[in-house]
Amino acid sequence: MLRYPDPRLRKKGLSVTTVTDEHRTLVKNMIETMYEENGIGLAAPQVGESLRLLVIDTRPTDEDDKPTTEGLTELEKQVQQPIAIFNPEIVEQRDLTDYEEGCLSVPGFFETVERAQYVEVKGLDEHGKEIRIKTDGLLAICLQHEMDHLEGKLFIDRLSFLKSNKIKNKIKKTGYPDPEEVAEERAKVRELRAERAKTQSVAERAKTQPAAPKK
Ligand SMILES: [Zn+2]
Repeated sequence: MLRYPDPRLRKKGLSVTTVTDEHRTLVKNMIETMYEENGIGLAAPQVGESLRLLVIDTRPTDEDDKPTTEGLTELEKQVQQPIAIFNPEIVEQRDLTDYEEGCLSVPGFFETVERAQYVEVKGLDEHGKEIRIKTDGLLAICLQHEMDHLEGKLFIDRLSFLKSNKIKNKIKKTGYPDPEEVAEERAKVRELRAERAKTQSVAERAKTQPAAPKK
């Protein structure tokens, strides 16, 4: 796994004109790596392949580590995961949302990033056939995060100048936290996300509840 500030993470990925067996092997390996690292998405440049390819699986897992659909939006449920997509392009996007993002190439750091809430993405599947993904939720956020990697862009580039520099300088000066600290940071963010999801759903419920009749 390449980590910031590795210059290979800054290269633009090349388009794939024909999907070959070699590409399919790469997809398989990338999906394995993503699961091993407990990630929800991985872009080819992160494993040193300068190609426009990403893999994603945002499904939560149950106690037995089996994927579930719990907490997924209706649109997310309609998308079969894991996803592998070559040459992804956003053809439509709307509304804004934000999320505490992290990245396997910037381990131990999490910051809120603003993204489109809904996206429609087209690209090629591992058989070279055109696919379209219409989604919102975490899947939409993850697609946009991974697509940034294909442009040589990282989530820490999307923060305020001050925040971004703070993180970049810290990494350059003291390196990355050890795996234990990364795990701790992850657990904290998971709690924060769960807390936010709760308050959000309360807010959404309040929105959809019929207004009290006026007297
Ligand atoms: Zn990333």
